[in-house]
Amino acid sequence: MTYLSIVVPCYNEELCLDTLHRRVSDAAKAVTDDYELILVNDGSRDRTWPIIADLAAQDDRVVGVDLSRNHGHQLALTAGLSLARGDYILIIDADLQDPPEALQPMLDMMRTEQADVVYGQRLTRAGETFAKKFTAKLFYRMLKKLSDVDLPVDTGDFRLMTRRALAALMAMPEQSRFIRGMVAWIGFRQVAYRYHRDARLAGETNYPLKKMLQLTVDATTGFSILPLRMASYFGVILAAIGMVLLAYTLVRWASGETVQGWTSLMVIVVLLGSGQMLIAGMLGEYLGRLYMQSKGRPLFLIREVKTRHEIGQVGIP
Ligand code: UDP
Ligand code: MG
Repeated sequence: MTYLSIVVPCYNEELCLDTLHRRVSDAAKAVTDDYELILVNDGSRDRTWPIIADLAAQDDRVVGVDLSRNHGHQLALTAGLSLARGDYILIIDADLQDPPEALQPMLDMMRTEQADVVYGQRLTRAGETFAKKFTAKLFYRMLKKLSDVDLPVDTGDFRLMTRRALAALMAMPEQSRFIRGMVAWIGFRQVAYRYHRDARLAGETNYPLKKMLQLTVDATTGFSILPLRMASYFGVILAAIGMVLLAYTLVRWASGETVQGWTSLMVIVVLLGSGQMLIAGMLGEYLGRLYMQSKGRPLFLIREVKTRHEIGQVGIP
């Protein structure tokens, strides 16, 4: 058994890896000699994998994991976590937006608070655009409102977990993964470590608007069925309005009014049509996820593992 595992998903991070390796190793060595650094290459298109393989060849605490293709942040993370053997597990991004030096205070916090999860909560975010900060703020607050689980706001995947929290997380088979939410769902005792988030060390964000929207839909459908219920609420409200309109129309008709009202008709048709499309789309999101899940495909495929005795050739056919 290892004392500490540090898991880092990496996608096109060639510029960050050397500094990452140095800072994370220093932070880990300040705590223990018995650690492993798991670097997962998520199908990068730059030199990320050769660099990781080099690091693994030079430093026997480094485990390089090469996925078969780009599986996305949450699945790359899952792949790394599935190989982690530590009693404590730290998740951190490759771009050093989250400080590795927080490891020591997070471990201390875990002990004094007897917690199973210490999650990083961002007080500020440097070097990010107003739009990113605003959408992120909105996202966390909206999700908290929608969800049945108590999701902490302004919290990414940067966190320290105990082995039993990790075991609980890995026992969840869902394909659409929103890991920070899934960890919150586990329960046990979870405490916040507040910190200031730095700007990216180098390179650019791998979370453009499209991926952020994808994550939002994954998070919403994964943690709430409120959007499905909303169809019934809409239905009830519309039926009430419809009754009033019907009564009005009949009264006018009885008093011999001529047919008029192309405008009102158009308004109603367009509103109802778009409302129905929206709700059909929501149904589709849930149904599509049900379908993907029912196929039961593996969450990720590993092409190669470098050293730490190749971790038993895990996942390689
Ligand atoms: N990442 C990944 N696969 C992807 C996209 C991102 O493994 O398809 C990794 C990336 O290398 C980084 C982390 O996920 O370590 C967070 O990505 P990023 O820093 O681009 O997101 P942001 O901090 O801008 O939200
Ligand atoms: Mg980042």
